[in-house]
Amino acid sequence: MDKRIIGIETEFGCMVRDDAAGTPEMIVEQVKDHAFYKDKLGLIDLHARDYAFEPARCGGFLRSGGRLYIDAVGSHMEYATPECTEFKDVVAYDKAGRVILNRLLRELNLQDQVSFHSNSVDHFGGHTFGCHENYLVQIDDQNFLEALASLMPFLVTRQIFAGVGRVGGHRLNYKSLKNNIMTISDYEVDYQWVGNFYGVEVDPTVDFQLSQRADHIVKTISSRVRFNRAIINPKWDSYYNYLNMHRLHILFGECNMSEYATLMKVGTTSIALDLIEDGVVLHDVELRDALDALKSVSRDPTWKWIVTRKDGATIKAVDLQRLYLNAAKKRYTGRDEQTDYVLGEWEYVLDTLEKDPYLLSDKLDWVAKRKMLEEFMEADGEVKWGDDVLHSLDLEYHNVSPDDGLYYGLEQAGLVERVTTDRRIFEAMTTPPQTTRAKGRGMVIDKLLATNYRDYVIDWDLIYLSKRLHLEMKEPFNTYTEEAKIFSSGLA
Ligand code: ATP
Ligand code: MG
Ligand code: MG
Repeated sequence: MDKRIIGIETEFGCMVRDDAAGTPEMIVEQVKDHAFYKDKLGLIDLHARDYAFEPARCGGFLRSGGRLYIDAVGSHMEYATPECTEFKDVVAYDKAGRVILNRLLRELNLQDQVSFHSNSVDHFGGHTFGCHENYLVQIDDQNFLEALASLMPFLVTRQIFAGVGRVGGHRLNYKSLKNNIMTISDYEVDYQWVGNFYGVEVDPTVDFQLSQRADHIVKTISSRVRFNRAIINPKWDSYYNYLNMHRLHILFGECNMSEYATLMKVGTTSIALDLIEDGVVLHDVELRDALDALKSVSRDPTWKWIVTRKDGATIKAVDLQRLYLNAAKKRYTGRDEQTDYVLGEWEYVLDTLEKDPYLLSDKLDWVAKRKMLEEFMEADGEVKWGDDVLHSLDLEYHNVSPDDGLYYGLEQAGLVERVTTDRRIFEAMTTPPQTTRAKGRGMVIDKLLATNYRDYVIDWDLIYLSKRLHLEMKEPFNTYTEEAKIFSSGLA
């Protein structure tokens, strides 16, 4: 697909530094109510914020066409970008979510007591936080599983540049599984998943690893998100179905702080999907045990990242990535600017990872974080791997506050490469992408705001005002601007 619909969802950890502010569950409710302004009587003032919208109970759609809501299962704050087609847009909208969260905390004067973190694991409790990627794919139903199998080796190994890095590791204890599995509902399973279910324990044998979530993944493909921590969940919901195209819902990934790494993650994945859609068969990529490879690549302290293929032969993750890269270069070089950019950087990153990963400390999260931790240990002289302070630094790397977050410290010192600008991120808080149905959605939302109309339902493919008045937006590449104008005129 020359241009593809892409969106990212991120769950944020909420850290309360002062108990007087309330529990994390209370804080996220307060933040959400403030965003979608609810006063003490439960009334909604749609004009209260210039970036937020929808007085839904758990959150709702934003003027940008994205969505901010509380995940019913884990009581996490979650932000989903609107549908994008440009890789750089994905980066800007992804970052805009964090700016919105910061602004909400500041408006509530909670910034000194509370912080949001886009880390994907809770080092002490063992909980994990999702960062899902969504890609519209055009693959026939009958070929779908086969197609996913050819994507799997790419997904398992892309952590060498997309991993965010983490201090330490976890081990899952499967023993308690049998007792619980049938007796509790889907929702409870997810809630208890990490706590009792698998009896997560700290694995003291790991100093540092590339991925935050690799230790927690127990399946390759699962149709149920809540029940299984999988790599892929092939959503079959009609919301995302358009002319035999489906939303591919990738569950294994992590929320990057680095703009460059975010762009490379979605850019290379989208290009790998192009290959699969175009029927390019890559021989010799299939792995003997994808889950084992996922963990061993993440945990390899030698950074050689050798994986075993189905036939028993081994290959370096860097070379496996090159099989995808070379096939893509042959086919897609010159297609458009963003493809050329990603192909060029993909090659550069793989070559440099092989030479000396530290040369990528301005680009990749895991390298930037590793370097920061090593510098800290060297300056301190006594701290060593496994010490609590390193876990805290790891978490603070993902603090989304520009004043406190350690990643933002690197950014302000000019030590990381940027691929978007503050101005573009600022725009992305309120202005939808111009190339997808998010544009029409944003136009209607603006009109709803202007007219103070409250009786509506919004979803990714539909805006419903009444039986007579609803706007279907089935085609994600259609901006629906004309339809949105006509539809909005019904709102007076
Ligand atoms: P969860 O996984 O949290 O239960 P979800 O994945 O079903 O929820 P949302 O959190 O609402 O759904 O996020 C949907 C994401 O999919 C958004 O980022 C959106 O931009 C993206 N998206 C919407 N339509 C499409 C599409 N047709 N193809 C690909 N991505 C899409
Ligand atoms: Mg979601
Ligand atoms: Mg999701």
